[in-house]
Amino acid sequence: MLSRLVGEPSISSTSSEIDRSNLGVIEQLATWLEDLGFDTEIMPLPGRPDKANLIATLGTPPQDNEGGLVLAGHTDTVPFDDSLWQSDPFRLKDAEDRFYGLGCCDMKGFFPVALMAARSLDADTLTAPLTLIATADEESSMAGGRQLLASGRPRAKYAVIGEPTGMRPIFAHKGISMMSIKIEGASGHSSDPSLGANALDAMHEVITALIALRTRLAQQYRDDAFEVSIPTMNLGCLHGGDNPNRICGSAELQIDLRLLPGMNSDSLHDELEALIHQAVAQHDVTLNLHKAYPPILPFASPADGELVTTLGQLSRQEPGTVAFGTEAHFLQSLGMETVVWGPGHIDQAHQPNEYLHKGQIEPAIDTLKHIIHRYCVA
Ligand SMILES: [Zn+2]
Repeated sequence: MLSRLVGEPSISSTSSEIDRSNLGVIEQLATWLEDLGFDTEIMPLPGRPDKANLIATLGTPPQDNEGGLVLAGHTDTVPFDDSLWQSDPFRLKDAEDRFYGLGCCDMKGFFPVALMAARSLDADTLTAPLTLIATADEESSMAGGRQLLASGRPRAKYAVIGEPTGMRPIFAHKGISMMSIKIEGASGHSSDPSLGANALDAMHEVITALIALRTRLAQQYRDDAFEVSIPTMNLGCLHGGDNPNRICGSAELQIDLRLLPGMNSDSLHDELEALIHQAVAQHDVTLNLHKAYPPILPFASPADGELVTTLGQLSRQEPGTVAFGTEAHFLQSLGMETVVWGPGHIDQAHQPNEYLHKGQIEPAIDTLKHIIHRYCVA
């Protein structure tokens, strides 16, 4: 199964030349799930006939969050760097204790694990439904997750997102957003500042405002569940101007912002944009703000929740937090206790020669069997 999934390219990217359809993966999963007795629904993304989510349910789909379990994963992968791969990224390579291939670990490998855990279930013996979700565009726009939230589905009491956590249950992650701030001024001879409008002078005021905001946020918010317990703002790169004796005509700053659970991402981004506009108001420049993608929202489930505690006991690992973003916020917002837990390690994700350690597979199947039994059968 993993070989078939890896063999279906499903790169998602904000760059349209690299972006690919995910329908090959979706249709394959739907076929396998139907063979196991699941009812399947392929949900195309609005305006994107080449992209879809899959919702597959065994048992009667719930109308509320009374019971049942969702197993969720994304079907897309990140792009790859051909020159750094030692094998064909779309051909599963079986080598000693590892499976190599694009998406093996993040996270096509989760689907065969979930299917193996579900394969001996009989719909008639279920006391609550089991739902498998496969989404589109998690690695780029999160459009698949957004579409699920907009449609109000799926519903269940619990959800596991099978991202590679080395089978450590994760109950919270920060929100992530990246922004580019472009300032266009006018260049001219450096001997007379009135001949132009210096973009770096304006940028200096933007940076001052950003650092003041960062300091304020760090004083205002703290969450000790995270290794870095405060919200962060990284000034990542700055480009501007061309020569010391010319007025700097344009400058661009790119920042990365990581918010803690409980912070309101929308209002903070509004505040940030207002501060930037205010900072350049006295300068004769134009401002262009651009987000690389819609922000990934922060996520937190109760650290002592039923599902996270159970997964911690089964995996013999302390629940924790991570520094990467997932679709967890969407499922959490639909009313499910959501935990990120899956086979494979994030260190191997988004890397050339991505692999899944075979030793992760059997324990992951066993753990999923346990929780399926606990929440859908017992
Ligand atoms: Zn992933």
